[in-house]
Amino acid sequence: MKRRSFLKKASLTGVAVAVGSNLIAKNAREEEKSDSLYDGVAKDFPIVISTWNVPNATLKAGELLELGYSSIDAVEQGCMIEEADIKNQSVGFGGRPDRDGNVTLDACIMNKKGDYGAVVYMQNIVHAISIARKVMENTPHVMLAGKGAEEFAVASGYKKTNLLTQESKIAWENWKKEADYQPIINIENHDTIGMLAIDKNGDISGGCTTSGLAYKMAGRIGDSPIIGSGLFIDNEIGGATATGMGEEVLKTVGSFLIVELMRQGKSPQQACEEAIRRIVVNNSNFKNFQVGYIAINKKGETGFYSIHEYFSVSIYENKICKNHLSDFYNKNG
Ligand code: ASP
Repeated sequence: MKRRSFLKKASLTGVAVAVGSNLIAKNAREEEKSDSLYDGVAKDFPIVISTWNVPNATLKAGELLELGYSSIDAVEQGCMIEEADIKNQSVGFGGRPDRDGNVTLDACIMNKKGDYGAVVYMQNIVHAISIARKVMENTPHVMLAGKGAEEFAVASGYKKTNLLTQESKIAWENWKKEADYQPIINIENHDTIGMLAIDKNGDISGGCTTSGLAYKMAGRIGDSPIIGSGLFIDNEIGGATATGMGEEVLKTVGSFLIVELMRQGKSPQQACEEAIRRIVVNNSNFKNFQVGYIAINKKGETGFYSIHEYFSVSIYENKICKNHLSDFYNKNG
């Protein structure tokens, strides 16, 4: 038993014995709860975990947290790094377009209070994550779509930018020759950026930002901006976020599922594995798409898991950012 946990038990028992049996029962329940997820901070905060190998974004978030910034500021600014990076062709500026050649962005953000904001199918604005935050903080709504999101961004002081870079345009034009829609599993190192952070106060926030699946149908929206699917935070328990085939994450409400599994006592790793199992079981097509989940609990323990190999995560802890290759379900090819 950890020293802190022992001291807590000792003092609770003392009070309970002094005041009666009802309290003993209540305190026993509290002890049980604190022994699972709520007690004994195992790791030093801050901690950041992001989908994929995104050291710049993850480090940015970690450094802000070291300076005392809140987890919501850290995830916003961390995600902004990838949104602005034209080399990342699945997020923000330089993202791959839909089949009509339009880059459309989905993003959401969630804070320690459970507040949530999102934009879907937004065009011409680089920092979808910031507009999602503005929806959360400055409007009575939780989600704005398309033109409305774009107009709200402009009214909030953001400038319009053509998000289709030359490189993404050429790739789209090549794709159009065959126009065969076949998502390819992890041929590249980047997809949606999902980021979870715990700040020095132990408060958790998360963000998720993407241009969605390349060459999707016009109007298609994935899991990333949808609360409970692409992202979910419960500051008492932990958080989870997703990358990969959004339709499958949506159908299983993956991020909410992971947080609920952690609430029931599963570790972040066990919860991610179970959420992947829920997708592949009864889905004979799972060999043709990828999904990856990451999770963090209130103690700062992290987990990550995917259907196929080559999913990776970036973790910032103890002032260092490292990339880790994920374990995966489909070991037999
Ligand atoms: N989850 C994203 C979507 O379905 C895409 C991805 O992560 O690759 O839009």
